[in-house]
Amino acid sequence: MAARILDGNAIRDSVLEDLASKVEQTTRFGVRPGLAAVLVGEDPASRIYVRNKIRACDRIGAHSDTLRLPFETTTAELLAVVDDLNAREEIDGILVQLPLPGHIDAQRVLGRVSPDKDVDGFHPVNVGKLASGQPCLAPCTPRGLIEILKRSEIQIEGRHAVVVGRSNIVGKPAAMLLLAEHATVTICHSRTPDLPAVCRRAEILVAAAGRPAMLTREHIGDGAVVLDVGINRLEDPAAVQRLFAHAPKRLARFEKTGSTLVGDVHPSDVAECASAYTPVPGGVGPLTIAMLMANTVAAARRRTPAGKSTRA
Ligand code: NAD
Repeated sequence: MAARILDGNAIRDSVLEDLASKVEQTTRFGVRPGLAAVLVGEDPASRIYVRNKIRACDRIGAHSDTLRLPFETTTAELLAVVDDLNAREEIDGILVQLPLPGHIDAQRVLGRVSPDKDVDGFHPVNVGKLASGQPCLAPCTPRGLIEILKRSEIQIEGRHAVVVGRSNIVGKPAAMLLLAEHATVTICHSRTPDLPAVCRRAEILVAAAGRPAMLTREHIGDGAVVLDVGINRLEDPAAVQRLFAHAPKRLARFEKTGSTLVGDVHPSDVAECASAYTPVPGGVGPLTIAMLMANTVAAARRRTPAGKSTRA
């Protein structure tokens, strides 16, 4: 049977629709969720990411504010900006776009964001809460994985999930969230012996290694659900030809543009071996911004009467 493609764009659209109606409701009661994006320097990719995040705010009706600071901004100056945003009542989420210029102490800056406004879920307080199973703002890409599974009605509880990658922003939090959903979780990394054998035991396989098409048919158990977090840009025509021989449209686009994206999972092997999988692009990627919006709306709860009463 053909594998089911888990369409991240469609799932993102339904998440944003649900959030838009939540925002409409809270705004009626005087609480319009607000996100501040802080962009330091002129990195073109960062500018695009921030622009897309602001567009998503517009789409759900949330308030947004972009602060563009020059490359020369010092750590002290950036800390002062964060302090100001922490104090602003109408700002529920603070996003400091990474990477920051090398002269800025990024850890100090991220640690200064109020945990209540930490919509990226990177603050040690939220990391600790996630690890100890308490409600928190969790990192967006891992949250997106859970959202894809739930909205696709794929059971998590009781299943064996294998996460390839142990980074602080993807692998580890993904494992924590799967655990919170009662999966049995194995985390693999670059020093895991016999990776194919471990991966083959997965009923849910999460690929977050940052290695193009690294997981092949020998890693994918029959009928596994495969979530591919990897985003790797390929420019080598021979590699593209090898990986996408089955996809003439993709090859034609590559001829025109000179590059294409591939995940960490082999694109035709996964289609043959998995029961369901996320494509790249158009799988996990679109959920990341949607979950940033979800975290912003969740953070705004602190201003609602219900949120205030649970804090009292
Ligand atoms: P990272 O480089 O910080 O971590 C990679 C992890 O993979 C490490 O823990 C490493 O031990 C493991 N690894 C590397 N090579 C391995 C191997 N051969 N075998 C087993 N494990 C191996 O990367 P990251 O920030 O976690 O990102 C992972 C991928 O996800 C990248 O391709 C990145 O571009 C992508 N990403 C996508 C999104 C999204 O929105 N879809 C968000 C963040 C990251």
